[in-house]
Amino acid sequence: MHACVIGAGVIGVTTAWQLARQGWQVTLVDAAAEPASGASHANGGQLSYSYVAPLAEPGVLGDLPKWLLNPNSPLRFRPRCDPLQWRWCLQFLRACNARTASATSAQLLSLAYLSRQMLHDIQQTAPIDFGHARNGKLIAYRTPALLDKARAQVALQAKLGSNQQILDADQLIAQEPALAPARSQLAGAVYTPSEESGDCARFTQGLFQQLAAQSRVTLRMQTPIQRLERRSGRIDRLLTTTGEAIEADQFVVAAGMGSRPLLAALGSRAPLYPLKGYSLSLPCTPEQAPAISVTDYERKTVYANLGGTLRVAAMVGIGVADQGIEADRIALVRRQMRELLPRVDADRAQAWAGYRPATPDGRPRIGRSRAASNLWLNIGHGALGFTLACGSSALLGSLMAGETPAIDAQPFQPAC
Ligand SMILES: Cc1cc2nc3c(=O)[nH]c(=O)nc-3n(C[C@H](O)[C@H](O)[C@H](O)COP(=O)(O)OP(=O)(O)OC[C@H]3O[C@@H](n4cnc5c(N)ncnc54)[C@H](O)[C@@H]3O)c2cc1C
Repeated sequence: MHACVIGAGVIGVTTAWQLARQGWQVTLVDAAAEPASGASHANGGQLSYSYVAPLAEPGVLGDLPKWLLNPNSPLRFRPRCDPLQWRWCLQFLRACNARTASATSAQLLSLAYLSRQMLHDIQQTAPIDFGHARNGKLIAYRTPALLDKARAQVALQAKLGSNQQILDADQLIAQEPALAPARSQLAGAVYTPSEESGDCARFTQGLFQQLAAQSRVTLRMQTPIQRLERRSGRIDRLLTTTGEAIEADQFVVAAGMGSRPLLAALGSRAPLYPLKGYSLSLPCTPEQAPAISVTDYERKTVYANLGGTLRVAAMVGIGVADQGIEADRIALVRRQMRELLPRVDADRAQAWAGYRPATPDGRPRIGRSRAASNLWLNIGHGALGFTLACGSSALLGSLMAGETPAIDAQPFQPAC
């Protein structure tokens, strides 16, 4: 069987790798010259297997007015005359209820744990050098009241088997000395030792190199796909922008935000909207940057040490459609970085902007498309694509092989 996968971001490359491992002949195509050129390029580097709660949760409704009115808030919303934006936002607000959020969290957790297992399998059998650290994660709180709230949650999760510790400010500095200059700003933290981090682009490129060495895999970069041609309910072939046709038995769309127009041309509405985010990267010494991943909770900013590179990621922009970097937003991330880690020269950090391909409810869509019997989707991983990539691709691989998957596939079943 021959499968053609569209998209060489972390999702498409892990999909191609999984199918090749299962014995498929695979063609992987991407418009860009290099893998991981889209959202997977310079993301936050968090493998947050235990922190997969969707953005759509009841607390958001209370926070929204405050966020929308404050220019320094992590959220920027620009209303547009765009039915896609309004439909997505309404579906997002509808998902902001306790029942949906807790069901989605449980479903994402099962996918995340499968991902962790698959990534560890890869690292054991054919290791990739991507700055992978298994140092845990600190969620640092600035307000004592929020730390107290977290304390209650940690106690609850302990009954469910989670291993997390509450640290006061002194314990936090003892655990992560790089935060010492910010001691007076911090109330404490929740420490989760099992969390991991790494460089998503290096991981994707490493798997891509492994694919390049396989005789049954064809890699077609700089090959933009214009449309999928459907005949009698099946995809016949892909047409590139130069008019060339690519044929296969099965097709997978894993093209991040590029999936939406490809599916729209088949009359199918993918529930995706781009949530813009920013990152800063710069080389760092062990004294300057935290060894453990840190989330600055109130500011919704994450810090990861990717083996000598400090990566800081932040911000959610809705309706901020241009590809550019907004000067005020990136200046704010630099300021926050300077305040938390004054030993780091934030002015030298390289800025990047990317678009999280987000579904309103936070669940990726993985499985057979309704648009054609031989068309499969692996899309919509939003803020968690790196974390969920290996599990999502293993799940899709099982479905495409007609096998019973390791986890319940139903919650991720596409309706498009
Ligand atoms: C600021 C920021 C921080 C983030 N932090 C984290 C984090 O810490 N942890 C985490 O787990 N996730 C994080 N994410 C989310 C994660 O980066 C994404 O979910 C993930 O990269 C999505 O991968 P993808 O392969 O679906 O999309 P992409 O990486 O965008 O890849 C899609 C590919 O498809 C190609 N393509 C599109 N259309 C076509 C076409 N017509 N023809 C051919 N090729 C096409 C594109 O060129 C691209 O290479 C973050 C995202 C952002 C923006």
